[in-house]
Amino acid sequence: MPEALSPAELRSLDRAHVWHPYGPMPGRQEPLVVESASGVRLRLAEPAHGQLELVDGMSSWWSAVHGYNHPVLNEAARDQLGRMSHVMFGGLTHEPAVRLATRLVEITPEPLRHVFLSDSGSVSVEVAVKMCLQYWRSAGRPAKQRLLTWRGGYHGDTWQPMSVCDPEGGMHELWSGVLPRQLFADEPPAGFDAEPDAAYVRHLRELIAEHADRLAAVIVEPVVQGAGGMRFHSPAYLRVLREACDEHDVLLVFDEIATGFGRTGKLFAAEHSGISPDVMCVGKALTGGYLTMAATLCTSRVAEGISRGEVPVLAHGPTFMGNPLAAAVASASIDLLLGQDWEREVRRIGTGLREGLAPAAELPGVRDVRVLGAIGVVQLDHEVDMAAATRAAVREGVWLRPFRDLVYTMPPYVTGDEDVARICRAVCAAAREG
Ligand SMILES: *Cc1c(COP(=O)(O)O)cnc(C)c1O
Repeated sequence: MPEALSPAELRSLDRAHVWHPYGPMPGRQEPLVVESASGVRLRLAEPAHGQLELVDGMSSWWSAVHGYNHPVLNEAARDQLGRMSHVMFGGLTHEPAVRLATRLVEITPEPLRHVFLSDSGSVSVEVAVKMCLQYWRSAGRPAKQRLLTWRGGYHGDTWQPMSVCDPEGGMHELWSGVLPRQLFADEPPAGFDAEPDAAYVRHLRELIAEHADRLAAVIVEPVVQGAGGMRFHSPAYLRVLREACDEHDVLLVFDEIATGFGRTGKLFAAEHSGISPDVMCVGKALTGGYLTMAATLCTSRVAEGISRGEVPVLAHGPTFMGNPLAAAVASASIDLLLGQDWEREVRRIGTGLREGLAPAAELPGVRDVRVLGAIGVVQLDHEVDMAAATRAAVREGVWLRPFRDLVYTMPPYVTGDEDVARICRAVCAAAREG
């Protein structure tokens, strides 16, 4: 084993060589050095603002729903590691991938039947887009190659996903003329419980009808728009999309990468609407936050449509497709989730968030406080001072990662009531000081 690097050495090498998400090079902010993580706590290599341990309010960006260092997931990984950590998927198959794909078909809405496994959420969206475009090409309608989405969305950072991210929050201006040009509807009116807005419904229907000849698919995040602004909308709009897509021969893609696996209170957010998409992406919590893996599911109609084409195959095949280690942990994570009363835990956390975040509504500079499932959001009326907000949360012993005008949390489902209350105090402190 090489000699351990001190926290100071780590920080200095990190700054010199290592790119961080959405960061400059060399780095300007000082990242905290994490030594290990267990349960809902991250253990730092050295104290920060008096804290050596931080309760994770982020689930490592929606993924670590069971917390860290979970004995069941550790065991699944160790067990698979003893057999093989990877083997190519071209011409070969194995139990972990087959089990996982079958399980995904069982637990996702009918009639999704076929599964393409890939390495990350963004890639799963690329695959979804490729499926849709190829479906129409195979059907002899190659002009149908544009996508429609609504503003305020986020679908990942590779090329096609970027083209359907919110044009203002994303990097559209920097890349205008380079990114594929897609169609944008207005942002869905806010509020999970809000009555559907008739004018907005008309707007959606008209856009789809008008551009149907060129549209391959509509792609949206159902019910919760995550990294595009942490906004919630009525499931009624998803039914409107479904109807309009059926009427005008357009495919419907749900990006459930953030919302999947219980986060919104249903196993998949599509269930709030009672309809199902033609193509669906899952990722993030798929492996319980252990390893990187995502999946694109589609219906038999889509798969058979592609198979009838001039090029009857889906020309995509990542090197690490179906990775056995990730697949084994993913199956274990799904079993762990479904083997408990996860709905009760998500409800319990939601109740704690509602109580604990209520005081934030009284703070100056706070525009809105909202909770859905196990997601809590405090929206400010100004851009958050990320350094000040993070510091305020760390002082409370909590890890948060605010962005834009948002201080938000989606705790692991195993977070106890006291830790949920602590996260809420930290969100309030971050909203006050950020
Ligand atoms: C995170 C996210 C993605 C991208 O997933 P990566 O694994 O980061 O590539 C896509 N869509 C949604 C809704 C996401 O939240």
